[in-house]
Amino acid sequence: MENVVIIGHGPAGLTSAIYTARAGLAPLVLSSSAELGQLDQTTDVENFPGFPEGILGPDIIVNMHKQAERFGAKFQTAHVEKITGEGPFVLHTASSQIETRTIILATGAKPRRLGIESESRLWGHGVTACAVCDGFFYRNREVIVIGGGDSACEEATYLTKFASRVYLVHRRDQLRASKIMAERAMNHPKVEMVWNSEVAEILGNSEDGVVGVVLRDTTNGSTREMKIDGVFLSIGHIPNTEPFKDLVDRDSEGYIILEEGSTKTSRPGVFAAGDLHDKHYRQAITAAGFGCMAALDAERFLASQAG
Ligand code: NAP
Repeated sequence: MENVVIIGHGPAGLTSAIYTARAGLAPLVLSSSAELGQLDQTTDVENFPGFPEGILGPDIIVNMHKQAERFGAKFQTAHVEKITGEGPFVLHTASSQIETRTIILATGAKPRRLGIESESRLWGHGVTACAVCDGFFYRNREVIVIGGGDSACEEATYLTKFASRVYLVHRRDQLRASKIMAERAMNHPKVEMVWNSEVAEILGNSEDGVVGVVLRDTTNGSTREMKIDGVFLSIGHIPNTEPFKDLVDRDSEGYIILEEGSTKTSRPGVFAAGDLHDKHYRQAITAAGFGCMAALDAERFLASQAG
């Protein structure tokens, strides 16, 4: 019987692991190998406090992992399919069942997709959501980035290292991104803005990859074809909460609902931290902060049970 099982290996889960490990609870951290976390797919992080020169996203994860391990956190690669029990709980993975007194859910969020047929058909053949993973393949080629937030601006700027031209396609005529990120992208000589446009169709096949897109003007509905070699999606995220749908309350978008001012979910003994409940801040540092709160909440819950 575990004291605490933490599901997730991002800043929220690993901060929970550091705190619960230091409290002597020997937490077990489970992570799915199928998908990299968001920080693992980032390059330079310039706004994580304590690193005046910036730090690579994957390095934050490695450092947090080592820090948790130093205090006795245990790590296992396993995808949790469902959770049963009222407390204690049973976590069901493909190969095992794990019993635990408390759970911290910290599985984060995954990139949103457009939802058009050509996107899934060409996924991995020129359509991707990870500039850091795939940018290298577009040396001296032309790509589009879809989106108008900080991520889209960051990815567009990053892709200028490889691509000869980057078109930033946004459905409105104003970016949602912060001023500094927006200016960095818009002022780059290789970045060209395509305003009031959405991708209606992606053209290509699995052998040749992407060859173009059909853009729809959002102001008048007219369409035009554009030749392009790659499509990078950067249109926000969806929380990874599907396996927990019968365990805790979620909102209409799938975000876990927490008790005001705490990390308590609707199920006593189950806590949540990070991008799977937070659609407002969504920063590595806020995820880490929620991870700390969840660890303290779980520790207090265990103490109250013992007493
Ligand atoms: P976001 O801020 O939610 O922006 C998503 C963008 O995608 C929006 O511009 C949205 O358009 C567009 N969009 C959504 N659905 C779409 C669709 N179906 N078709 C076309 N466009 C669509 O997401 P994000 O950029 O991933 O950022 C998430 C959070 O992380 C934010 O809080 C951001 O500040 C933060 N972040 C920070 C940094 C940094 O500071 N270093 C870097 C990356 C992200 P509309 O604008 O029209 O809604």
